[in-house]
Amino acid sequence: MNEQNRTPDVDLDVIVVGAGFAGLYLVHSCRQAGLSVRAFETGDGVGGTWYWNRYPGARCDVQSIDYQYSWDPELEHEWEWSERYATQPEILRYLNFVADKHDLRRDVQFSTRVEGAVWDDAERLWRITTDDGVETTCRYYVMASGCLSSMKDLDIAGAERFDGETYYTGRWPHEGVDFTGKRVAVIGTGSSAIQSIPIIASQASELTVFQRTPNFSLPARNGPVDDAKRSAVESDRDAYRHSARWSSVGVPLEQATDSALAVSDEARLARYEQAWQDGTIFSLTSAYNDLLLNPASNETAAEFVRSKIRSIVQDPATAEALCPTSYPIGTKRLCLDTNYYETFNEAHVRLVDLRSTPISEITESGIDVVDGDGATSYEFDAIVFATGFDAMTGAIVAVDIAGRDGAQLRDVWADGPQTYLGLMSHGFPNLFMVTGPQSPSVMSNMAVSIEQHVDWITAAIEHLRANGLDTIEPTQLAQDGWVTHTNDFADITLFPQANSWYMGANVPGKPRVVLPYLGGVDRYRGICDQVVERDHLGFELRGADRSVVNDGVVCRVQPDVMILLEMMAEMGLPSFDTMSPVEARAFSEAMSAANPPGPEVGDVVDGTLPAADGVTELAYRLYRPATPGPHPVTVYFHGGGWVIGNATSDDALCRDLCNQSDSVIVSVDYRHAPEARFPAAADDGFAATRWVAEHAEALGGRPGELAVAGWSAGANVAAVVAQRARDEGGPSLCGQVLLSPVTDCDFDRESYRENGDGYILTKALMTWFWDHYVDVEDRSDPRVSPLRAESLVGLPPAMIVTCEFDPLRDEGNAYAEALADAGVSVRHVVARGQIHTSIVAVGALLTGAPYRAEMAEALRGFFAATVTA
Ligand code: FAD
Ligand code: NAP
Repeated sequence: MNEQNRTPDVDLDVIVVGAGFAGLYLVHSCRQAGLSVRAFETGDGVGGTWYWNRYPGARCDVQSIDYQYSWDPELEHEWEWSERYATQPEILRYLNFVADKHDLRRDVQFSTRVEGAVWDDAERLWRITTDDGVETTCRYYVMASGCLSSMKDLDIAGAERFDGETYYTGRWPHEGVDFTGKRVAVIGTGSSAIQSIPIIASQASELTVFQRTPNFSLPARNGPVDDAKRSAVESDRDAYRHSARWSSVGVPLEQATDSALAVSDEARLARYEQAWQDGTIFSLTSAYNDLLLNPASNETAAEFVRSKIRSIVQDPATAEALCPTSYPIGTKRLCLDTNYYETFNEAHVRLVDLRSTPISEITESGIDVVDGDGATSYEFDAIVFATGFDAMTGAIVAVDIAGRDGAQLRDVWADGPQTYLGLMSHGFPNLFMVTGPQSPSVMSNMAVSIEQHVDWITAAIEHLRANGLDTIEPTQLAQDGWVTHTNDFADITLFPQANSWYMGANVPGKPRVVLPYLGGVDRYRGICDQVVERDHLGFELRGADRSVVNDGVVCRVQPDVMILLEMMAEMGLPSFDTMSPVEARAFSEAMSAANPPGPEVGDVVDGTLPAADGVTELAYRLYRPATPGPHPVTVYFHGGGWVIGNATSDDALCRDLCNQSDSVIVSVDYRHAPEARFPAAADDGFAATRWVAEHAEALGGRPGELAVAGWSAGANVAAVVAQRARDEGGPSLCGQVLLSPVTDCDFDRESYRENGDGYILTKALMTWFWDHYVDVEDRSDPRVSPLRAESLVGLPPAMIVTCEFDPLRDEGNAYAEALADAGVSVRHVVARGQIHTSIVAVGALLTGAPYRAEMAEALRGFFAATVTA
């Protein structure tokens, strides 16, 4: 310790709770940074998870060669794993070896529980109380208390009455247990049970497994360390560890880029079979890119595993009971086993399905279950509770943590964890969490996630000290943004559909929110790095006499939009404004061809109608709903800046609108600039609308029920058509739906400044569009800047959607306001986290769907109002 740097008024710079994988590395890392540190650990040895979980069969489910430290490269030569998946004793030996090598126990106080932590704002320190009655102060307090260290309270009546032996997988006796000749019950079928059941069965005279929810388990295919993996590590250790850190799960993994529904049944089965043979926890659910997003895709993998269960388990009723059907595969932690399903073929092993015969109580001699109108009693010598953990938050809120103004962390988190990056919580300065809720943690190889957090925390403390500062705390804004982002990510996945511990659903009374961050290790690491690079965005850093705060939200676009932007950036696609219009149109068509097809509609008809010039024939595409007609009609204008786009580019959106609004959609290919400059598009739009009104009946429409709609420049055309129909003698329109409309030529708006670059539609591209379409002196004409119309009174009711990250946002907002001011009925929705192009991405992006539904609902409302009138 550098005496010069030592903080004089506290006992220690850093106090750590826990001496598992995380606590041990923290002790080392703090020492390296010249910080005084002490870890308190309830257990009497190091190891955490691997100290407590000594049940038979306990071993890791991430291959040992990956599930180890990387911070000491020498360790990789000094320690050799004996198996792909090391047993608990071997992992515990490893952690003891590391503790010895680096003399870590010197800074760990064992057999000591941290009970309370109080932030002293005046002294800017934490007061930590332990169960030995001692108070120790520190500047920085780190909960390395484990995601799966706090056991779930037993919620089965009568458990304390049982006269036989009881065991908990997470608190297994150090001396081991011999079940030879005993009648044993195992309650639970999670990973702990699935690992222990085959071994307990090999000893017990009778084994009864009480299963409430079946789990999906894959064969571990344990054995010697994979040669391929070993040589990959040995050939370039740094590159291998680097790719693990920048992978989605903390293990180098090939990421599938195709959908499970885009391949033949044979190809899909072959890929699943390969994953089944692979013996890893990650290979099945990453076999296709949408298995955790799309229910239909997920079902193909789930059914594959069910078919395996049925092929292994001989008794069909038992096999069926072991087949999970109530949640998508992968949304509860997958298990890895050795002979789990095979064990149920043994005569002395039986399965009790608690869904049909729930436990009524535990008695002195065994377990009673409700069986129809009666009861069945099972007698046992021993009961093993493999009932799980109060995961991710349990160990943190078990400590009385009082932050600024005495706020209790457990109260602040009463409705779910509130964190920034899963690392810190507002109101609790200098309190860090390792693999805390809302970080990837349990969704990853934890060794990698732990190292990332420890490195981040140590670096943050070093940064403070180097800058004469001593506290760090996230702002409320940054934290709220992160909580929203975490929930948004969960919402595009299937995870919320399972009653899993990921959702807090295994603990009665615990709020049901997704606990881990589902965006992946790589993306998350990038975000944490970005926060630091952007001057600790969203953190307030304070010293005795100054505060540095760069407030803000780190991830603001919707997660699927974020993924799209990342992909586009990776592909390095050229922007349209670097091309000629002809090239841009060809490029746009090529991109459209790669989009997912839109939904089926009743009928699609291509036709032509006369352009405003009386010479040109304009193509149109008509979409008819599958429901019996005639239908109301919507004339739709595609986006593309008056220069590019056609019916094909907006095909999926039109199909979606057709189905959801139950109206005929006529998508019109108005003439494009620069060949046909202003006001050709506006004139064609108006001429086409009149033509459709006149031919409504022939097109399968109901005359008089006519609306206009459009996106972007197409919404500009629609808005102009609505004005001209009012001013130039019809047709009568019952509504206008404008998605991200161009309404004005003035770029001097906040949304242009904020979003003019980086969200696909750029300021440069808008300039290119305007330049191709209309001369500068004509730009204030209401036929291209409808916001500048003399009056907006008397226009048809409008539905306007503007997107938060769109240069056109503010002019769309202005049009909505101006219409409302003119007494027009307006429904205006600002789409949070959306960009200009995201709502039209039917089938590709999920988060735009609610806005499309609202647009369709608005159309239905317009038509219904016409009928009533
Ligand atoms: P822990 O190892 O849980 O250590 C936390 C320590 O904090 C504990 O020893 C606890 O006693 C102590 N503590 C908590 N509260 C207090 C307090 N108030 N006062 C004092 N001490 C306290 N992850 C993987 O990535 N791969 C795997 O293969 C894998 N297998 C697992 C198998 C089992 C059986 C379990 C339960 C989990 C497994 N995990 C696995 C997750 C595992 O928890 C992490 O990989 C990792 O071991 C966590 O390390 P940690 O130091 O963060 O927490
Ligand atoms: P778990 O996955 O939460 O499983 C607990 C089991 O107990 C579930 O089957 C649950 O049923 C059942 N249960 C809980 N309360 C019950 C009750 N009152 N009545 C009847 N059944 C009840 O816990 P775990 O098996 O200890 O595993 C937790 C996590 O630790 C794993 O998901 C994994 O991340 C990690 N782990 C890893 C390994 C490994 O292979 N390396 C091994 C063990 C643990 P319901 O599902 O119906 O709630």
